Amino acid sequence: MENKYKLVCTQCGKVIPNFATWFEMNQECPCGCKRADIVYSADYKEIYELTKPGHKPVNFYHYFDFLPLMDKKNIVSFGEGAIPIEEWDFLERYAREKHGVDCKVMVYRNDLNGGTNTFKDIAASLAASIFKENGVKEFCVASTGNTATAYSRYLAEAGIKFTVFVPNDVCPDTVEAIRSYGQTVVVSEGNYGQAKKEAADFHEANHVLISAGNIDPIRVEAKKTMVFEYLRQLGRMPDVYVQAVAGGTGPIALDKGVREMRAIDRDFKMPRVLLVQQDTCDPMVQGWRKAVANGFPEGYEKDYPVIPDPKTMVSILSTGNPGMFPIVAPIVRKSGGTFLQVKEDQLVDYGKLVKKERGIYLGPASIVCLAGFYKALEEGQIHNGETVLINTGEGAARAKFFKELIDK
Ligand SMILES: [Zn+2]
Repeated sequence: MENKYKLVCTQCGKVIPNFATWFEMNQECPCGCKRADIVYSADYKEIYELTKPGHKPVNFYHYFDFLPLMDKKNIVSFGEGAIPIEEWDFLERYAREKHGVDCKVMVYRNDLNGGTNTFKDIAASLAASIFKENGVKEFCVASTGNTATAYSRYLAEAGIKFTVFVPNDVCPDTVEAIRSYGQTVVVSEGNYGQAKKEAADFHEANHVLISAGNIDPIRVEAKKTMVFEYLRQLGRMPDVYVQAVAGGTGPIALDKGVREMRAIDRDFKMPRVLLVQQDTCDPMVQGWRKAVANGFPEGYEKDYPVIPDPKTMVSILSTGNPGMFPIVAPIVRKSGGTFLQVKEDQLVDYGKLVKKERGIYLGPASIVCLAGFYKALEEGQIHNGETVLINTGEGAARAKFFKELIDK
């Protein structure tokens, strides 16, 4: 039987038949490129069937033919990825009354993912399933929190040993959560950079598979299913997509989903991508502003600042070295979007507003995204008649301090 998928190097086009081989290759093409696209043999017309009204998927494996997994028996799932998209009319009202903009505002509720209530669950689920299928017994990562917690749970479920290297300022709740799933945490003596180095050394010394970061095809393939979910739940693609950004897997995955759909519909719509960072850690915003000011000179995407030791309460959004900017910035530019900066000292007020209007607590990174919607209105980035999709990241479960600030 022919494989349902293959990996294709984005630089030289080399075909890698499956993940077992990709892992043997240390997740890197001989040409030196670490980025590979997954290509499927399925017919994309099937997506139109899968997204017709009436389907009630329990998870994102609803799109199994478009995921790089061969056998459904390897699925490790806690009910993630088929999360609701809600219309938040208080945001629509605000846009109309304060800015005279008549738009539809839809919120993608990643806090309702079944695993650990974050947008990382979907990637962790697919990783656990693929590792199980390909006989991977052990995995390691350096992480500031969310990835580690989600992967801990899913890998434990798949019987895969997992070692997490965290920076010394990690939140104790995170360490506790990872250990509660029976996984190993190594608290570094240094910052995130140091934890990363320790993870890399561990990987080298023990030949343990290590996370391939934001361009990891597993993460991208899991998250690209958001495009299919927009079709299923909205009946069309949104005009504007808003997301808080640290590494950048989200926009990379959105772009991948759209590119896949363009195989059968050349005009398939890419929304304008608006990426949000808080002013305490906004290297991508700074890189973008410089590019805009200089008229996007050749190589602009490689010119970005590094914030060595960001001081922010939004630990999920504390990536001071935005290594994915060279991939993410061109995606944003091509979409007609932009990067937005919001103020960290206003986040609690936005958190209170969501609680008042919707009766729920969102995590701080989700609130950065929501604040970005207000900022987008202020900057004239949203127009009459448009549908805006706000992709929230997480619930407040593991940001107890933030919940307490909201309740104050
Ligand atoms: Zn290559």
